[in-house]
Amino acid sequence: MRVLYRLRAKGYDSYLVGGSVRDILLGKEPKDFDIATNARPEQICALFHRCRLIGRRFRLAHIYFGREAIEVVTFRGADSGTQQEHVTESGRILSDNVFGNIEEDALRRDFTVNALYYNIEDFSIVDYTDGMTDLRAGVLRLIGDPETRYREDPVRMLRAVRLATKLDFIIDKASAEAIETLGDLLQDISASRLFEEVRKLFLSGAAAATCQALREYGLFQYLFPETCKAIAHSNASSDWLLIEKAMYNTDERIREDKPVTPAFLLAVLLWPAVKELVTQRRFSRVPPAQALDQAGAVVAGEQSQVISIPKRFSHPMREIWRMQPRFDQTGKKSAERLMHHPRFRAAYDFLLLRSEVGEVDPELVQWWTAAQLGNEELQRKRAASARRRRGRKRHRGTH
Ligand code: ATP
Ligand code: MG
Repeated sequence: MRVLYRLRAKGYDSYLVGGSVRDILLGKEPKDFDIATNARPEQICALFHRCRLIGRRFRLAHIYFGREAIEVVTFRGADSGTQQEHVTESGRILSDNVFGNIEEDALRRDFTVNALYYNIEDFSIVDYTDGMTDLRAGVLRLIGDPETRYREDPVRMLRAVRLATKLDFIIDKASAEAIETLGDLLQDISASRLFEEVRKLFLSGAAAATCQALREYGLFQYLFPETCKAIAHSNASSDWLLIEKAMYNTDERIREDKPVTPAFLLAVLLWPAVKELVTQRRFSRVPPAQALDQAGAVVAGEQSQVISIPKRFSHPMREIWRMQPRFDQTGKKSAERLMHHPRFRAAYDFLLLRSEVGEVDPELVQWWTAAQLGNEELQRKRAASARRRRGRKRHRGTH
């Protein structure tokens, strides 16, 4: 509101737009707030203390309030006339750096329900694409011709699946059908952009439903090709089950406000590929632990061609895999060492999932559950005796 009113006070038009308007109208809490204005990026930044311009080709302003940023974007226009230079052979838009008016800005957005503008002049909703009708009917509809719009930016296919699941909307027929034939365009999307999208797909609280929908629309195979190949090869239903269970657990953890990490989910999502490769290496007599480590490296490397996984996630992911065979060693020393590993909890959760789908003997998991309880007991005792020792010292000190 402060950003909107400050822009207005300086004579600019400004509107709240996008997901925030959509979510507020649906009675949901918006994740972030976007503002569209006719002020140019430099003009926006001149009005706010904590403003940063980001983006090279199309610059937009981030205005910070504490750690949160409000994104303020100048209306964008359709770049007609010179279209050819900005579009690849498949129709993908490479640059869109033309300013426009509010109506052009609306038509460039992806879905009709994402193109609603809240106007502080008269508290009305400005709607150029009949988005209100779709919002009331619960329909996610691409603006314009679906095929053209997916070709311009194939990530819109992932957004369609994610938003439909999140909002519990139906994807309009034409917008849905085009996805089924154009999925392979996702192969042209940069690996770093796909990572950000995958993160939103699986860490927004509806991972299970989203994963199911991705498979139904045939998009999952473009995100995790090696996993799909491995499952097709092994033909083991437990592989999908493992993934499904992990998704449900993730959603539940988010509901309970517990932390979730992409590392764990990626470890699950790529596990079928790792197992497949381990089997192959075992044939050529590589020792098991080494085979697992090598398979992990290969799978992580191949996957990062599709979805770039930052090291802070790929390292723990591979550690979760590497720790799995160590659970077989239940000797006192090695068990204690494993339990003190910083990644123990994640690796144990992974083991638990594997046992739930029949990959690991449940008795082994029970052993580790008990061992942890014993260990906690032991830790409590140690902490108590340390406290007693400190207490005695303090006592002595006062005399
Ligand atoms: P979320 O709840 O995930 O934030 P959102 O719709 O707000 O959903 P954002 O990524 O925050 O998604 O984008 C804000 C707005 O920018 C969208 O509502 C839409 O109007 C526009 N937009 C985002 N991505 C695209 C795209 N790929 N093509 C066209 N318009 C887009
Ligand atoms: Mg948003």
